[in-house]
Order: sequence, then C-alpha cells, then structure tokens
Amino acid sequence: MSNVSDLWAVQQTDLAVEAIRRRLKEIEGQRGETAEIKTAREAYTAANAELVHWRTTRRDLEIQARELSGKIDAAEKDLMSGRVRNPKELEGMHANVGSLKRRLSAVEDQVLEAMLQTEQWQADTDSRKADLEGLEADWQEMQTANAAEVNAKLVELKRLAANMNRQWAILSPDDQQLYRDLRARKAGRALAEERNGTCQACGISLPTGIVQAVHNDEVRSFCPSCGRLLHEA
Ligand SMILES: [Zn+2]
Repeated sequence: MSNVSDLWAVQQTDLAVEAIRRRLKEIEGQRGETAEIKTAREAYTAANAELVHWRTTRRDLEIQARELSGKIDAAEKDLMSGRVRNPKELEGMHANVGSLKRRLSAVEDQVLEAMLQTEQWQADTDSRKADLEGLEADWQEMQTANAAEVNAKLVELKRLAANMNRQWAILSPDDQQLYRDLRARKAGRALAEERNGTCQACGISLPTGIVQAVHNDEVRSFCPSCGRLLHEA
C-alpha cells in the first residue's frame, strides 16, 4: 500500500518534467531570427541602397562637371583665338560660354548636395550596420547558451524519467488510478499541500477534521473546495 507522500513524490517529478518540457519548447521557439534582427537588417539594407544611389549620382555629376569645364575651356580658347571677327557670331559665342557656365554652376551645386547626402548616408549605414551586428552577436550568443541548456535539460529529463519509473512502481494500482484521474481533472496538479490549515492550491481554510486527517500519511483527505488530494507540508 502506497502513502500520500509517495503520490506527492510522483507529482514533484511530474511537475519537474513539465517545467523542463515547457522550457525546451520556449527554446525551440527562439531558434528563428527575431523580428528585431529582421527590422534592423531592412533598415541597414535601405540605408545602404541610399548610400550607393548617392555615390553613383555624385560620380555621374562629377563627370558632367568635367565635361562642361572642358567645353567651357574650348569655347573660351576659340573666342580668344581671333578666328571669328563677326560681331553677331562673337555675341553668340559669348552667350554660349555664359550658358555653359550657368549649367556648370548648377551641376556643381548638385555635386555638393550629393557629397552631403553621401556623407549622411555613410554615417547612417555605418550605425545601422553596427546595430545589426550587435543584435546578430547577441542572438548567436543566445543560441550557444540555449544549445548548452538543451543538453543539460535532456540529461535532467533522463534522470527524472528514471525517478518517475521507480516512484510510479511504488504506487498501488488504486493510487496510480487516483493520481491519473486527479491530474487530468485538476490542471495537472492532483495534490495540494496543507500548510497551517490552509489548502495551498486554492487558499481556503480547511476544516479541523480534515487537517488532522492530513497528518496521517496513510489517509486520503481531499480539499472540499478544489478537490485535490491533500498532503502535509
Ligand atoms: Zn484546495
């Protein structure tokens, strides 16, 4: 004949197994990349795309500026050469140089703007890259810690399973049945502790007769409120 303390031992092992299973499930859920890392990667990619865009723009504008400078030099040389003497034609050549210079000035303003943008996006890209790398390093660290924890928990589970086999075998068939029934009906907790006359599962004050009965390990007393088998703390 098994005692209430034998049933209590089974429940302790059962709860320990349950806690480990819960933790293993939680760890399993942490294997994928976090939303935080995804967001950080998107932010970095977007900033880097802007940086590439402004670098290209700046290069294109600098080429345009060089071409315009070359055209201006050639046009001015042509003006100075004395090749053309017709006033109307000379006026046209002056106007052309003026127009080229205005275009160059506009392009130079754009080059300046592109340089500023490149600098800003470079800083933004660098900081977002650092954020992403920090998050990835933290995540990797967590994966390593989790892997070690999983190994330890699996060893612990094996030990608990051996305990459970031994503890379960001690129980009489009636007590095994009682435990199974209560466990299924009482949210995984078949037994409750009685401490200072109170049921520790539901919190009610137990009648004196029941409290006295709980002190006898061989007697099955149940909480009149939550229905769990009572065990003396
Ligand atoms: Zn109770």
